[in-house]
Amino acid sequence: MELKWFGTASVMYQEGEDKLLFDPFFPLNKKLYQPSLAEYAEVKHIFITHGHFDHLIDVPKILAKGQATVYCSEIVANTLQQDGVESDRIVILNPGDSIETGPFTINVIKGRHIVFDKWMLFKTICNYRMLVYHANFRKMLKVSSKFQEGGQTLLYQIKTKDKHVVHLGSLNLPEDQVYPKNMDMLLIPLQGRSDLNDYTMPYIKLLEPKTVLLHHFDDSFPPVSSTVDTKEFSKKFKECFPEIELIVPRYGEVVTI
Ligand SMILES: [Zn+2]
Repeated sequence: MELKWFGTASVMYQEGEDKLLFDPFFPLNKKLYQPSLAEYAEVKHIFITHGHFDHLIDVPKILAKGQATVYCSEIVANTLQQDGVESDRIVILNPGDSIETGPFTINVIKGRHIVFDKWMLFKTICNYRMLVYHANFRKMLKVSSKFQEGGQTLLYQIKTKDKHVVHLGSLNLPEDQVYPKNMDMLLIPLQGRSDLNDYTMPYIKLLEPKTVLLHHFDDSFPPVSSTVDTKEFSKKFKECFPEIELIVPRYGEVVTI
């Protein structure tokens, strides 16, 4: 299996000719890598982890350009339908569901959204970047009430004949679930807290992955997002888990699992 990271939480998995796309988004930060609409629109199966705008806002545009079906929670389905997406393009998922397509089996597991900490919120609001990126901020404020997470974050276990990946779109887990362990790769979004270097490690310990791949660490929707220092994170990670490989991907790079 191969994967490609496009920035933010946008990830594509590929096995042979078959592709799955997760949370496709075009960064508001135009200084960053801009994914191609044509490449997104080629994929037939789009999965959404949760309904926040940086995971969902561009999906109607991608659906209009291609023939994809989108798989998502009920609240996400409602948001998409408000944006004019026909119901026959949407499959509503619940935890426990399983989708088979081509070489992939995708198991749906109940997830949980990260809780933004107060220091993170303070650093974001009391920052000159609010002035620099005021147009972005106004745009995000305008859409924030529409793009609700609503307690319906999903995480996905993706299996092929010989590989096993767990994909997180937000870094948190409800306590009442049994999670897969020892996956070949665990995808972790690194965004949304000021203490990520300490906060993340118990999740790695719990899930015991063979490899961790980071995503969502880039400043794709300033002033709300920020660039996370992956070098500092890597240092701490290697101290805690010397036996686990850590991958910090580059935009558009193909990573083999
Ligand atoms: Zn979110």
